[in-house]
Amino acid sequence: MNQLHHKVVKFGGSSLASAEQIKKAVAIIRADETRRFVVPSAPGKRFSADTKVTDLLIKVHGESASGLDFEKTFAEIKARYNEIVDGLGMELDLSAEFKIIHDQLLGGTTLDYVASRGEYLNGLILAAYLGFPFIDAAEVIFFDENGNFEAELTNRVMSRRLARQKNAVIPGFYGSLPNGAVKTFSRGGSDITGAIVARAAKVDLYENWTDVSGFLMVDPRIVNDPKPIEVITYRELRELSYMGASVLHEDAIFPVKVARIPINIKNTNRPDDGGTFIVPTEKSLKQPSSVVTGIAGRKGLRLIHLEKDMMNQEIGFGLRVLQVIADMGISFEHLPSGIDTMCVVLSGADIDGKEEELITRIKEAAHPDFIAIEDALALIAVVGRGMAGTPGTASRVFQALAKEDINIRMIDQGSSELNIIVGVNEPDFEKAIRAIYAEFAE
Ligand code: ASP
Repeated sequence: MNQLHHKVVKFGGSSLASAEQIKKAVAIIRADETRRFVVPSAPGKRFSADTKVTDLLIKVHGESASGLDFEKTFAEIKARYNEIVDGLGMELDLSAEFKIIHDQLLGGTTLDYVASRGEYLNGLILAAYLGFPFIDAAEVIFFDENGNFEAELTNRVMSRRLARQKNAVIPGFYGSLPNGAVKTFSRGGSDITGAIVARAAKVDLYENWTDVSGFLMVDPRIVNDPKPIEVITYRELRELSYMGASVLHEDAIFPVKVARIPINIKNTNRPDDGGTFIVPTEKSLKQPSSVVTGIAGRKGLRLIHLEKDMMNQEIGFGLRVLQVIADMGISFEHLPSGIDTMCVVLSGADIDGKEEELITRIKEAAHPDFIAIEDALALIAVVGRGMAGTPGTASRVFQALAKEDINIRMIDQGSSELNIIVGVNEPDFEKAIRAIYAEFAE
């Protein structure tokens, strides 16, 4: 079988929420025979006030586990699937499958099993409609007894299985434990399944179909109609998603990153839009059109500000400060430092109520001349692989902020020159993002 030019296509819940949406997905699959492996989510929302099937399943499990009547919710779930089957004009009878799930609920089955049925049933429907074989994810995706994903075992078993298939539908979101019981990934986990299948099938491209045409340079709630991102590297994406931008499940990056497979985020409702390509960092990657790929930020941060004369000559000062933070079970976010000053940026939620203890312990351990905890800090990351070696990027960021009269409280640039992080007062956050965007979105 030709191993070149083939793709895994993962469809999110909104792309498969109804028969109408499923028809679009099927048209996309059929339009390109290299779209060989299909990973479906459970049916998502058909309209904004709708409920995702996964949430109905979680509800039905909760009701049955608390001894409540769960028939109404169960009927709602069945209706969602029956409506899809009818809308697709299929003969498929799911009643035997519904009975198994119903019996399992009566028998006190696990939440993971019930939650996973959303993808399982959608997978059965899609496989039948497409005429593709159905591969139960429980047979090819494995977790150890502690519930940790077994990447290598999964890859071995799945690649052997897929090598024999021209096409297959593999439901997203779950796998199995050593005792055979179903275990799910965290919410949104079908993205991970798509990446696992992509790696095992050694595809050229992992297409992730959703309801947006890829990533935007900046949050559209802050900037009106921002430009889309055409190409982003895994590392840039990691920086942006850490800062709060999100379309894709973070763990989904790892399996494909290992295999150096690009991901293309595409829009099921606008299949002709190019979407965003997420790619490994390649030397050959063409120079981006803009030095800045994306801008994202986070509010709710706090800053420990430390000063000590001759800090630069004292060995272990930073270590002692960080040791206290670690001993208190707090993780730090950033560490911008000067000659005699050091700042530690922490998430406000992590240190609320612990400020006094933190100050006392740092004073005892490191004897700073000055220590204060400042609050209401927002961080903005300006991320771009095009920044490395392009002089003047930082000064453009600072000038854009200065022009708007925004005070910069902190600056941090990693030596990778992939991003510049500035700290501003929380009330300036949106204004600062707009100013930086306006400067770089030419
Ligand atoms: N259906 C699951 C959820 O809603 C998994 C997924 O869609 O990726 O979280």
